[in-house]
Amino acid sequence: DTLGPTICIGEILAEIVATTTGHGFAESQPLIGPFPSGAPAIFIDQCGRIGGKAAMIGAVGDDDFGRMNRARLERDGVDVSGIAVDDTLPTGSAFVRYRPDGDRDFVFNMWTSAAGNLRWTDAVEAVVSGAGHLHVMGTLLVRPGIWDMTDRAAQIIKARGGSISLDPNLRKELKDDGETAARLAQILEMTDVLLPSGDELQLAAGRSDRQAAIDALFARGITEIALKDGTRGATVFTPGAAPVHADAFAVTEVDPTGAGDCFGGAYIAARRLGEQIATALDLACAAGARNVTVRGPMEGAGTRQELEDFMKANRRITHGITA
Ligand code: ATP
Ligand code: MG
Repeated sequence: DTLGPTICIGEILAEIVATTTGHGFAESQPLIGPFPSGAPAIFIDQCGRIGGKAAMIGAVGDDDFGRMNRARLERDGVDVSGIAVDDTLPTGSAFVRYRPDGDRDFVFNMWTSAAGNLRWTDAVEAVVSGAGHLHVMGTLLVRPGIWDMTDRAAQIIKARGGSISLDPNLRKELKDDGETAARLAQILEMTDVLLPSGDELQLAAGRSDRQAAIDALFARGITEIALKDGTRGATVFTPGAAPVHADAFAVTEVDPTGAGDCFGGAYIAARRLGEQIATALDLACAAGARNVTVRGPMEGAGTRQELEDFMKANRRITHGITA
């Protein structure tokens, strides 16, 4: 990461979680929080915490939710100079309750919060012009203002020899929307590392066969695909080499939010620090697994030492059976 930090652009939220499972928030119930949150913030926090150079671009309100988020990112080594403090809107928030079946109910205040007012400023320009890598959240391709910033940052970083990763987080409905599909195609052209899960690999490539999808993405210039598969672990594909697989760690899931983002933050940081694919993948699986053992979306993000200790202390799941 000598070229400069990894950056991520997007929402920073305070998350408040119901301590009981159930359906929604229609009645009074015990809640815990606030916790620092927002997918891009979770990614960049894990990136910084593991020792990668990292910077966040986002916006918070002039309130405790914003100060809490900034303080956490700073503590974990993230450059927060690209985080604007909005003088009118509050920090975004998310209330989350898990249903008995594992699904979630949300009440969001996201785009009507400071997060919705994110703009390209001189501070943003300064961070982007010194950055070496951009991580793009596919969920944000639907936001015109954030897309413009993402595209502008991507052009600047690619022009200075930097790289781009993309977590597609795609649902079929998004892909079918013309403008979103066009943005996806544009960012895919610039993407070096893809971090899909589920059928996002096929959706991103527009091919239903997995190997055909991988080949099509390599043909477009992607050099590394880290496919996340929950408790089945993850596999990295690179052109012309055998896939590298890592089994997941056997843990008791307390709060599944943030696994994919911690996985991504650890993987990208480790690769940019010069780690081999297998090492980066192990650290990433440890980061994803460790994060689900703790309540709060980024409370389980680990330092290098914490992740190594975690790997020693926890067994792997092989083919659904604990090894
Ligand atoms: P998210 O569910 O946060 O959107 P994702 O679907 O992008 O994430 P997952 O595959 O769920 O990604 O999680 C990323 C990685 O984290 C997995 O490959 C796995 O290594 C680890 N992980 C996630 N959940 C668990 C779990 N319950 N037990 C062990 N490891 C897990
Ligand atoms: Mg998942």
